[in-house]
Amino acid sequence: ELRKRFSANVSHELRTPLTSISGYAELIQSGMTQPQDVPLFAHKIRHESQRLLKLGEDIMRLSRMDGGHGVGRFQSVSLLKAAQEAAQNYAQAAAERGVSVITEGQDVQIQADPTLLGEMLCNLIENAVKYNRDGGEVRVSVQQLEDAARVRVRDTGIGIPAAHIDHVFERFYRVDGSRSKQTGGTGLGLSIVKHGAKLHGASVELQSDVGVGTTVTLTFALPEGER
Ligand code: ADP
Repeated sequence: ELRKRFSANVSHELRTPLTSISGYAELIQSGMTQPQDVPLFAHKIRHESQRLLKLGEDIMRLSRMDGGHGVGRFQSVSLLKAAQEAAQNYAQAAAERGVSVITEGQDVQIQADPTLLGEMLCNLIENAVKYNRDGGEVRVSVQQLEDAARVRVRDTGIGIPAAHIDHVFERFYRVDGSRSKQTGGTGLGLSIVKHGAKLHGASVELQSDVGVGTTVTLTFALPEGER
């Protein structure tokens, strides 16, 4: 039943950008457009195509996880280094909006699939930048607890209204669909985080206040030897 609903949602999600791409291409083809409008249409086609590519990648990632093949070999990974690498990917997007991204904390090793862990951290940091205010802050902190390692992504952004908090981890769920799509969102980022956490035996906690910001915490149990 879940798979059926997912497939139906996927075709719906694909239709919107494809309709838009097809529409702009048709306008250009008709020859009725002003030459000065063409770059704008090309920009829209490119934006929608990029979102489609991201959508394809996210859908494949979730399908592999659903099929039980989403996770590679677990190995010892530095949570702090993984967080720093993930943050690096969004340095430019953050700088463009005057958002500062700070990574801090202890260098703790966890057992993880480095690729999946990287994607989970990227999704969290991407959201923290995307749903931030201009000039805001993203703080990624790694901490070693007695028998666990914790990474926390905290932003000073728009926050999530209480009624939506329980739903944002659902596939394709968005609080504000147009903002998510405009920023290239797929509505799948947090579902990948949740699924990935489960495969790592980690817990996810989200706390948010509208207009103040959001904090997402991932907690990984440490193996006996590394406590
Ligand atoms: P998207 O691709 O839309 O960002 P996600 O699954 O990553 O999809 O997130 C689902 C929804 O949760 C987003 O559309 C957004 O409304 C909300 N959200 C996620 N992270 C944050 C955040 N840090 N601050 C505010 N809202 C957020």
